[in-house]
Amino acid sequence: MNTPAATSLTMAESVVEHIPALADPEDDPAYHVFIDSLDYLPAADVALVREAYRFSERAHRGQVRLSGEPYITHPLAVAGAIAEWQMDVEGVVAALLHDVMEDTAVGKSEIAERFGQPVADLVDGLSKLDKIEFQSHEEAQAENFRKMLMAMAHDLRVVLIKLADRHHNLQTMAAVRAEKRRRIARETLEIYAPIAGRLGLNKLFRELQDLSFQLIYPMRAHVLARALRAARGNRRELLSRILEGIKGRLQEAGIEARVLGREKSLYSIYRKMLDKRLSFSQVLDVYGFRVLVKNVPSGYLALGALHGLHKPVPGKFKDYIAIPKPNGYQSLHTTLIGPHGTPFEVQIRTEAMDQVAQEGVASHWLYKDSEEFGADLQKKTTKWFHSLLDLQSGTNDSSEFLEHVKVDLFPHEIYVFTPKGKIIALPRGATAVDLAYAVHTDIGNHCVAAQVNFKPQPLIAELTNGDRVEIVTAADAHPSAAWLSSVKTGRARSKVRHYLKSVQHDESTVLGEKMLDQELRALGVVASELPVSSWKNVLRDSGNKLIKEVYTDIGLGFRLAGVVARRLLAREEAAQPTDRPPASLVIRGTEGLAVQFAPCCQPIPGDPIIGSVWKGKGLVIHTHDCLAIRKARSAKPTKWIDVEWEPEPGKLFSVRLLVMVQNTLGALGRIATEISSSGTNIEHVNMEEKHPGLYTTLHFTVQVASRTSLARLMRSLRRIPEVVRITRDQGLTA
Ligand code: MN
Repeated sequence: MNTPAATSLTMAESVVEHIPALADPEDDPAYHVFIDSLDYLPAADVALVREAYRFSERAHRGQVRLSGEPYITHPLAVAGAIAEWQMDVEGVVAALLHDVMEDTAVGKSEIAERFGQPVADLVDGLSKLDKIEFQSHEEAQAENFRKMLMAMAHDLRVVLIKLADRHHNLQTMAAVRAEKRRRIARETLEIYAPIAGRLGLNKLFRELQDLSFQLIYPMRAHVLARALRAARGNRRELLSRILEGIKGRLQEAGIEARVLGREKSLYSIYRKMLDKRLSFSQVLDVYGFRVLVKNVPSGYLALGALHGLHKPVPGKFKDYIAIPKPNGYQSLHTTLIGPHGTPFEVQIRTEAMDQVAQEGVASHWLYKDSEEFGADLQKKTTKWFHSLLDLQSGTNDSSEFLEHVKVDLFPHEIYVFTPKGKIIALPRGATAVDLAYAVHTDIGNHCVAAQVNFKPQPLIAELTNGDRVEIVTAADAHPSAAWLSSVKTGRARSKVRHYLKSVQHDESTVLGEKMLDQELRALGVVASELPVSSWKNVLRDSGNKLIKEVYTDIGLGFRLAGVVARRLLAREEAAQPTDRPPASLVIRGTEGLAVQFAPCCQPIPGDPIIGSVWKGKGLVIHTHDCLAIRKARSAKPTKWIDVEWEPEPGKLFSVRLLVMVQNTLGALGRIATEISSSGTNIEHVNMEEKHPGLYTTLHFTVQVASRTSLARLMRSLRRIPEVVRITRDQGLTA
């Protein structure tokens, strides 16, 4: 599959005879570097590798890669990577031969004869893997993935050679057509890179991700790499100062260690920006340091010494030495605050652990001195594969199997099922609203309820892996602003925001018209009696096409109602503030997003209120005595509009109550019962023990219609014997 060009060539020996003599392939300098790197193998093994190279070169002779290079350069590079892991001779030989069965006339028996059965089995396994093409089609993909895992479980060397093969292919893709390039890169991100990660091959894992990222999004990768280079330049001095500081402190403490600077991979920075919706400059922990020590006790000593040097960020310390990650990774992680408040991560581990951290399961071959690591890891990995195989024997459904495997490979995702059995991947923590939007915007915009595993659940409840989720929709249902704090996917968030914006727009239009009417009435004019001609000037000045647009601008705070009113009446001279009594605006509370009630003082009907229009936000209402706005009011008195409640407002309003009670069993229960029996909704309750043992302060948020109903509620609560004090909390006890 890697050599589309090869399929058009006939590879019979007789054809090869006719190709003009090439320069001796053993003259290739890359070949000599490779042979030199085999110094860990006995001479007899090196001789076998040389023979395999000659054999492979002959078999591939005449084939060229799309880049124009002789095909043999590819197996040579793959074998080089395998030799870097110091894999055994069978692995190195198999890497050299990994494409011969696929692309040439050489059969398995011939390989077995020349290089032994184990090598033939490896090459055969690799050829079968090569035939697997991951397609977007779920079923086919699942089946292929299963085959690959079977091959891997059989012999781990197969997957290591396959990963090295993929790594080299990604590095040499310039001549491949763009569509195929992206497909291979995407497949690498979805399948191969996670496998490398699961096997602990972190270096390869990062490189596979970065290469794929560059192939899928060349522009983004380019821009990000440039930003990273610039940032590195800017912080060079700071980083070297931190580095020297760490070295010095460890030396003082008598800890022998190597200290290295390190940088996050491009792809991991990109993911972080995407997942957390950060800009590049907000991704602060791009840089980090690695401290390599001789043994575990000095690791903990080094940690202590560094926490004395820079302040650690609470909650960021992780001990993966005591509790290794499932892929065998061991290290201490801590985040410290450097000069200028720049946080940076430090990883502390032994040299042997570092080897495992870089090369994972491959360190079995690489790091023979530390048998316990390699052997243990090998055992764990084999166990992992076997658990996957157990899983697959329990089901005949490939896609179900794939989901299980994916859950294991991608711990940050969950998979849920639609009633029709479709599988949808969502980030961990996602809600039914996320799912609804993942299915279709219309479903998201009209969802009212969810049935999770046939039971009703709130729309914003967190879903778990394997849930069957049915979304109930209603034509007249609409997204709620409250969803924004629960949804996890960017898609759901942006769709809800978009909807709210459009609604706010409409509601602002209504408010704007009302505000303008009010101003005109104060000037003694009835809006509906204004001739259309008087609007001409206003529309011309503002560049708006429709009167409605002017209303919207007023409602959103982009234009002042007073100015527009005077312009309408062509009373330019009155454009300065006059001493006429300001007209007050009447509100109902049901204006929607165009009228917002300030969370600091939570006005309710009956409270004297005042409002000011904020650009793009609409009218924000406070109580007259709200301390939060006192300064703003005296600074700009003209910005504030007197507002009045309509006699019978149309909704319930939230208000906070502080109830101090004696600590007796059941006090909370009695109060809650009293509140709900008075017909009031409790929205939220929280408690805080200020005087442990004696009193507790309960924070209630309740919904009331007006000041009168609130007063009635407070009176009835005071009658409860345990209640010591009860106050309305307007956030300003200071
Ligand atoms: Mn290959």
